[in-house]
Amino acid sequence: MSNLSKDRDAQRCENAPSPEAIEELNTRNTEMGGGLLIRRALPHRRRRLVGAWCFLDHFGPLSLEDRDGMRVGPHPHIGLQTVTWLLEGEIYHRDSLGYEQLIKPGQLNLMTAGRGIAHSEETPPEHGVSLHGLQFWLALPDTHRHIEPAFEHLAELPRFRHDDMEIQLFVGELLGHRSPAKVYSPLVGIDVQVNGQGKHNLPLNPDFEHALMVVEGELHGDGLAMQQEAFYYLGPGRTELTLAHDRPARLILLGGEPLREQVLLWWNFVARNEAELHRAREDWMETDHFGIVHGYEGPRLEAPPLSYGVK
Ligand code: MN
Repeated sequence: MSNLSKDRDAQRCENAPSPEAIEELNTRNTEMGGGLLIRRALPHRRRRLVGAWCFLDHFGPLSLEDRDGMRVGPHPHIGLQTVTWLLEGEIYHRDSLGYEQLIKPGQLNLMTAGRGIAHSEETPPEHGVSLHGLQFWLALPDTHRHIEPAFEHLAELPRFRHDDMEIQLFVGELLGHRSPAKVYSPLVGIDVQVNGQGKHNLPLNPDFEHALMVVEGELHGDGLAMQQEAFYYLGPGRTELTLAHDRPARLILLGGEPLREQVLLWWNFVARNEAELHRAREDWMETDHFGIVHGYEGPRLEAPPLSYGVK
């Protein structure tokens, strides 16, 4: 997906781990290609990085009965990985390495931008009646941010039960399970489903900070009522989270070791200084550095103007 913000200023992002109570943060409604509304959690002015997670979008659930669905034309990325996870529906991905891939719920698309890649994402002509999913970005650590671009589709991921929770592990490690997805810092990303009424203990890695998004139903986390319109920050030092619910619910939990690097986020780029952002913008607008995305019917996305401001 593409950040459609016309913001001219880059955002300086760093971890600010705090071990206190669960922090409730608001999400913002914004628009994605095709007029789809999305809830954006990160970057948030009070929390810009959680582990290496620097961008959290939740879209849908949305009826596609009288509309085309997602249409995100070719656009570039550098310095990050995109993680696409669907709950309902399907998305067709094309990129400048030549990959074309349909993704469905329970599968993972992991695109490593490294030094640069371009891609498009769209609802395929044959599609279900609803679209619901998430896209996250992971900032690549300085040691790996210039690597060659790559794309992975993982149709089989660890899925297991723990304390009556159905857990799908899409990236990282949990409870001795490990996702085959290639990532570059210690982290975790899970989808947790619970049925009926109940109470469960979700184990957490105390070295990680976490962000939690409720995507279906509602839950109490350590006694706090958690809503779908918000997201929740959990600082490091926690070994578990108690989840209670009166009806079926579903949540996404992301976590990671604080990156301990200051990154600059602007448009679809993660860099370390403004010169890199200007170069990446110029590379996209004036050169073929990012390669060509073939087969997408529609215009590629233009980069907005970039100022020299950082906020
Ligand atoms: Mn994208």
